[in-house]
Amino acid sequence: MNEQVGNRQEWIRTLLQCPQCRSVLLSYHDREVRCEECKHYYRLIWNRCVFHDDISVSHVDYNRRSFPLSLRFIEKIKRKGGLALNIGCGAQPENMDFIVDFDYILCPNTDVVGDGHALPLRDGLFNTVLSLNVFEHLKTPDRAVQEIQRVCKPGGLLIIHTAFMQPHHDFSHFFNATREGIREWFTPFFSELACIVSPNFTVEKTVAWMSHDFLNMVRKYCPKATVDRYENMTLRELERVWKDLYSDNAQELYKLIRDIPDEAQGNLALGFEFIGEKKIRKTVG
Ligand SMILES: [Zn+2]
Repeated sequence: MNEQVGNRQEWIRTLLQCPQCRSVLLSYHDREVRCEECKHYYRLIWNRCVFHDDISVSHVDYNRRSFPLSLRFIEKIKRKGGLALNIGCGAQPENMDFIVDFDYILCPNTDVVGDGHALPLRDGLFNTVLSLNVFEHLKTPDRAVQEIQRVCKPGGLLIIHTAFMQPHHDFSHFFNATREGIREWFTPFFSELACIVSPNFTVEKTVAWMSHDFLNMVRKYCPKATVDRYENMTLRELERVWKDLYSDNAQELYKLIRDIPDEAQGNLALGFEFIGEKKIRKTVG
């Protein structure tokens, strides 16, 4: 542990609070952080506080690679002044003095590890809160929004990137949001300055990502003739399938891929059918 990292962690610890009971009375021991109020224990791994109990996060992940925070956002943070919080920082190549790097996983430059649904950070600390490509992975996005507004200063800036037409990806991916859906999440607490398609999310990338995942699925599960058929198809031919779902052409294509397992199709499907049966609960008393 070099001195620089030690000083940064000393500073970071002045920003923390217990995510369970919100007490700031945390004490630091050899391998754990203790809340003196609710007596909850959290892990200290590599001198970093880990505020969730997920044992799959047990060491520093040196293999992960992430895009560094774009200069466009760093400029916005600087213009706003004060401190910024980067929720879902991933593996940032370096720390900056004015950005707290937070994630669920621990990478070499993660300042604090925790769960976005219960931030271990004090109220009103941040002039800017960023969360890029995180919200589709949250089980209860509304709770995370509440937490973001809690740690953000009044008048503070919010920067969100989240999935709309992205295929299913990563280990946990719960919700894709439309523009209206994003507004439902955030506008109760944040006035809208923009809700746009950012350069990294433009429409040709949707088609590109879908084509990539679709062709990989066909390559994995279908005979070569089917692979050839799809690899050589034009967008125009595919469009005709959508224009007439009951045409011979559309039916032929459906037959070619109908045996691809449901689990694989689930990454790209138009939608899902859920059938349920109400659980029988024993009444109490
Ligand atoms: Zn506590």
